[in-house]
Amino acid sequence: MAQDWNTSKQKNTGLRKEKEKAVVIGLITKGMEERTMSDYLDELEFLAMTAGAEVVERFTQKLAHPKSKLFLGEGKVQEIGEFIEENKIELAIFDDDLTPKQANNLEKEWEIKIVDRSMLILDIFADRAQTAQAKTQVELAQMQYLLPRLRGLWTHLERQKGGIGMRGPGEQEIETDRRIIRDKISKLKKKLEKIDLQNAVQRKNRGTMIRLALVGYTNAGKSTLMNLLSKSEVFAENKLFATLDTTVRKLVWDRMPFLLSDTVGFIRKLPHHLVESFKSTLDELRESDLLVHVVDFSHPNYEDHIETVQKTLFELGVSDKPCVLVFNKLDLFEKNEFDAYLDDETKKYILEGIKTKFEEKYQQDLVFISAIERIQIDTLKGLLKSLIEDLYETRYPYITKYW
Ligand code: GDP
Ligand code: MG
Repeated sequence: MAQDWNTSKQKNTGLRKEKEKAVVIGLITKGMEERTMSDYLDELEFLAMTAGAEVVERFTQKLAHPKSKLFLGEGKVQEIGEFIEENKIELAIFDDDLTPKQANNLEKEWEIKIVDRSMLILDIFADRAQTAQAKTQVELAQMQYLLPRLRGLWTHLERQKGGIGMRGPGEQEIETDRRIIRDKISKLKKKLEKIDLQNAVQRKNRGTMIRLALVGYTNAGKSTLMNLLSKSEVFAENKLFATLDTTVRKLVWDRMPFLLSDTVGFIRKLPHHLVESFKSTLDELRESDLLVHVVDFSHPNYEDHIETVQKTLFELGVSDKPCVLVFNKLDLFEKNEFDAYLDDETKKYILEGIKTKFEEKYQQDLVFISAIERIQIDTLKGLLKSLIEDLYETRYPYITKYW
């Protein structure tokens, strides 16, 4: 890990100053297709870009398992090392999480910063947190990520000092550091509990209104759709995790009020500390009545993204909630996938096929839209309206007019 990791400097990857030249590295393990790794690295590059790095090159290696010492094979380490030196690379980003030992060994080998996927995501989150809640949650996740890695850090420093073994004068220091971090963790947890309580009260005060929550993979277009539906200005950007904090808006359609919330997106291999510490943000999901699952239909891996989102929803215990699938970015999908000369009938036929497939698979309604081009927005609104009406009716069967 980076050398200056300590409690007073949590923002350790230092990615946010100027663009750092980086390489991304992925291991193609047994049973994995090369294509899959290439998609993963696309995403990793996107993450790196979001964090402010410039990715110069990508490297992959086929290995049955990661090597315990250097994660990669020795030949590969040398090859990448030469590239790093020739191209003045400052940062190596791994798609997988490294053990402290692997990270330290690589850092020694290449003499540049080694960052893994979790660190990168944590770094982006730290950069983007706005509210006290989000900031506290990210800090907690960072501390929890750091805690088991301290020993590795210490060993590394000791080795630099002259290679003393695992015990020695540094031991006490590491214990103190660890205690400081543990203290910090419990303080952050307490702080979060307080914020949670306030938020719970706030949520209660929102009363009996039906609640809709936008969910989806990061960059699917949730915030864009939120803005469109609520005519508000939630931050939307072509970067991963542009929004971290939950935004809730009250909407009124045909005199029927409901709440719509936009929250953090999901991604493959979201560090589990982060998910843990974001539990309270995700209460918004737990307390919602209907999930609106936004999918970037133009993304080559949209099916995997759906799976990741479904899996995360399951882990959060909200997979039994009613949900609709909104296949967004139809404009981009058509541009990428449809030949300019294709007739409308055929296009319709292809889309119908996809719709049927996913409706059957997930037993959920599906609408194709483009939030940017405002295609099929009325269809979506119509569907949501009828579902919200149903929800009000089931919930308050004796009241005919509740709004
Ligand atoms: P979020 O992470 O799910 O909240 O996604 P955002 O709303 O921030 O959108 C991510 C990116 O996708 C932004 O650059 C949007 O402009 C873009 N985007 C959103 N909806 C559409 C769409 O329907 N078509 C196209 N082409 N781009 C879209
Ligand atoms: Mg967003």
